[in-house]
Amino acid sequence: MPVHESEAIILQSYALGEGDRLVSFLSRTMGRMRGVAAGARKPKSRFGSTLERLSHVRIWYFERETRELVRINQCEMIESFLSAFSDYASSIALALFSEITGAVLPEKEASDANFRLLLLATQTVKRTGKCELPLAYFALWTVKLGGWLPSLDRCGQCGQALAANDPACFSPSAAALACGKCRRPGMRLVSPPALSLARKMVAERLDRLQDGVAADAAGARAAREVTEMMLDIIEHQIDRKLVSRELLESPA
Ligand SMILES: [Zn+2]
Repeated sequence: MPVHESEAIILQSYALGEGDRLVSFLSRTMGRMRGVAAGARKPKSRFGSTLERLSHVRIWYFERETRELVRINQCEMIESFLSAFSDYASSIALALFSEITGAVLPEKEASDANFRLLLLATQTVKRTGKCELPLAYFALWTVKLGGWLPSLDRCGQCGQALAANDPACFSPSAAALACGKCRRPGMRLVSPPALSLARKMVAERLDRLQDGVAADAAGARAAREVTEMMLDIIEHQIDRKLVSRELLESPA
């Protein structure tokens, strides 16, 4: 049994048996994995708080040929995000980050881009205490990395350019944007600020966006609209509802 060492982010952990934990984690080099941390729920466990959700860690584990679950041997904290969970709004965004990552990434397929996105979004929430923009950015880039981002410039029906101030609409069932002329029942309007924010997100890094987007109610509303659109696309792709999404307040 060779021991593997990897940088990882903890996605979720569940109580298992008497004092163990079942841990889902995203390894930077190996992709999404699941393993058992024996004795992790016992007092004075050597794992400490390293297995808390979204902890950025260095992890050592054994792969067992005949079993799906690896055995987690040791875990060292690189950065903890426990403090960010104390804010309610942030905790919902963070829960969505881990739930979405777990839902969209296949097991054992490394994706450095998804790893960096998850880490960046989580660190931004912790550092700024704000979650609207990082959540929208995370959702949009998860969709883009998955190859599911519809054109933000052209109508998915007739191909006409979506001009900056024309009304556009979004079809959750088709996961696509359409122009005002192609609007059908069930599609909802996308505001020009939300469409423009989504376009900026494709082109700009999150830290630059943070300086450029109005940190007011209008900016938060546009970000929320982008988030709702992207979560619809993600749910369309994974073919189920995201549990943590129900905790998001409905858009104002
Ligand atoms: Zn059209």
